[in-house]
Amino acid sequence: MSGWDKKAADQEISKLVNNINISNDKVSGNSFEDQADVASPAETSLLLKIIRKGLVHTNLDLEIQRKDPTSPLYSVKSFEALHLKPELLKGIYAMGFNTPSKIQETALPTLLADPPQNMIAQSQSGTGKTAAFVLAMLSRVNTKLNFPQVLCLSPTYELAIQTGEVAARMAQFCPDIKMKFAVRGEEVAPNTKLSEHIIIGTPGKILDWGLKYRVIDLKKISVFVLDEADVMIATQGHHDQCIRIHKQLTSKCQMLFFSATYDKEVMDFAQHIVNNPIIIRLLREQESLNNIKQYYVKCRTEEEKYNAIQNIYGGITIGQAIIFCHTRKTAGWLASKMSNDGHSVAVLSGDLTVEQRLAVLDRFRAGLEKVLITTNVLSRGIDVEQVTIVVNFDLPMDSKGNADCETYLHRIGRTGRFGKSGIAINLIENEKAMAVCDTIKHHFKKNIQLLDAENSDEIEKIGS
Ligand code: ADP
Repeated sequence: MSGWDKKAADQEISKLVNNINISNDKVSGNSFEDQADVASPAETSLLLKIIRKGLVHTNLDLEIQRKDPTSPLYSVKSFEALHLKPELLKGIYAMGFNTPSKIQETALPTLLADPPQNMIAQSQSGTGKTAAFVLAMLSRVNTKLNFPQVLCLSPTYELAIQTGEVAARMAQFCPDIKMKFAVRGEEVAPNTKLSEHIIIGTPGKILDWGLKYRVIDLKKISVFVLDEADVMIATQGHHDQCIRIHKQLTSKCQMLFFSATYDKEVMDFAQHIVNNPIIIRLLREQESLNNIKQYYVKCRTEEEKYNAIQNIYGGITIGQAIIFCHTRKTAGWLASKMSNDGHSVAVLSGDLTVEQRLAVLDRFRAGLEKVLITTNVLSRGIDVEQVTIVVNFDLPMDSKGNADCETYLHRIGRTGRFGKSGIAINLIENEKAMAVCDTIKHHFKKNIQLLDAENSDEIEKIGS
């Protein structure tokens, strides 16, 4: 594939992986230990993609909205049923995909339908969105025409490279399909025309190539994909650039919009980009907390919080536990205390390189440590089946000290996955934390019960 060397791409990714930490360090050296340990949305998204071992399975329902509810909506249970080009099907199987994921079952027939339909798809990270739109991008290419037909916008260089990697792997048996990155470092000669079929890049570069250098004829684009809309919005200036690019496209161009979250800002943005879409969303929130027993424990000091953990740990049989702290300092303090008391503990915080983080996670997944203590760098995305209990040593709050319900869901949602029941314990040290806990309770409309961590009978009951 022209301009697409797999080995070079792999090296590029590993360089990027190491670079992520550099930017982290800048804002979070030792003197910042006491501050909340957070990564930018783009960094989080990239890290998630890199650490992910496979699809996040879900039993949740899809919500589908469309203007004409009587128009038929198909869903497929196999990739064969999509009547793909044989080379593409071969590529999918070579990637180890056997059956479509939940979102793919419904999204793919629409993505591939003729006449093309616009779509807004939203589901949590890891559910198969990228694979779905990359397949649509590759299927739509007409290799007899040597000009850009598909544009895919990603919020950052790193995320564009990741998508390109997926496209290159899926198209491994389609040597005729040509792709090009439009990212920093890639240059084009003005007044030439690109001959690649698929362009994957960041908004600024694509805007330059489309409007300033005119090496891409935006009027000839037949598929426009906007990936990671939520991260896009969080990235300075991208919102407007996307809209400027979008303005140049024709009404015949298929518009596809993907996002992991769906707050109002993302939806407003989507309305700008996508005309008359089918909207597919994977329902979450309340449903995913159904099989989680939630408790709070009143504590006055960090020592008391620690004792509560000890009592709970001693009183019930726990597979594995994740404990979330607000700062690295607390995480470090707790880890040394627990390991002094004989627990096998791992710590994951923002001061580790991405490779070190992966190593910690691999060991935890393998069960080498029973307890993982972490900060918000890991509030979403890891799926460790054996985790039965999540402890919020500190409740999730935003920078203003308000309850961060989304993060709470990400943290504790993992215990109840795969149909098993889980336990979430919130340690409450003051009025403010109690107010946050109440807000979370009302937000999800699920009770959070008081637990007396000194009472061994009560503790025994929660484990049964
Ligand atoms: P998202 O874009 O929603 O984060 P991805 O498309 O990146 O999700 O998919 C998450 C992971 O699952 C990736 O490792 C991908 O290779 C894998 N995956 C995607 N679709 C399937 C499938 N149908 N079968 C098996 N694995 C899949």
